[in-house]
Amino acid sequence: MPPTTVPARTSGSGGKPESRLSMVRRARRINRELAEVYPYAHPELDFRDPFELLVATVLSAQTTDLRVNQTTPALFAAYPTPEDMAAAVPEELEQIIRPTGFFRAKAKSLIGLSTALRDNFGGEVPGRLVDLVTLPGVGRKTANVVLGNAFGVPGITVDTHFGRLVRRWKWTEQEDPEKVEAEIAEIFPKSEWTMLSHRVVFHGRRICHSRKPACGACPIAHLCPSYGEGETDPEKAKKLLKYEMGGQPGQRLSPPPDYPGAPAQPLGA
Ligand code: SF4
Repeated sequence: MPPTTVPARTSGSGGKPESRLSMVRRARRINRELAEVYPYAHPELDFRDPFELLVATVLSAQTTDLRVNQTTPALFAAYPTPEDMAAAVPEELEQIIRPTGFFRAKAKSLIGLSTALRDNFGGEVPGRLVDLVTLPGVGRKTANVVLGNAFGVPGITVDTHFGRLVRRWKWTEQEDPEKVEAEIAEIFPKSEWTMLSHRVVFHGRRICHSRKPACGACPIAHLCPSYGEGETDPEKAKKLLKYEMGGQPGQRLSPPPDYPGAPAQPLGA
């Protein structure tokens, strides 16, 4: 990754306001440049089928994907199918998922959604948003993760990273995830939605952090109206980098065989 000391454009902050057309061009360029920085962007949850991805995504609320990946092998060994999970003793399931936090509420969601899958969908995860959001604990974000990554249906996943970054880039001013999703969908063709989501989340986890964005080490600083919100000194910024950008591996513990290149060793291995 090239070190960046280029000052940011002032688009949208002082001077002439940026036109919609310029913003869309800039947004698409950020997407293209992120694709070069993160050619291996992918969901960072380990899963082997739609059910595992659905469960892992529900567990990922308020914790890291790494923590979920450390927890799910035991969970799926104990409850490999929706039928098994629907019949779980809540206290036993709670103990397994306890490290992911909010374990009582999450256990309730997992047993509830497994019961709904068993009773309403023949034990299969449905491939439509309208069906997925009927499952307990499953909102649009989780549904879009499952659709995009287990069914190949384009979806924009607005999590905390995605919302923060698109606002820093002035692609939208909306705070509500559904409104953010709708506005970003207007900027990009459907074919880009799923990979755009991964790239933005990758950038948010690795460089454009919530509290300390590493602006001085950011490869898209020249396209960012919020350059300077974080550390701009290249050396100091470099120290803030997480995961592979800072020499640490990413969050997946069981990457699939076609995983194209990011480090596969778990943190601390
Ligand atoms: S790290 Fe700084 S320059 Fe890079 S995208 Fe975030 S706010 Fe913009």
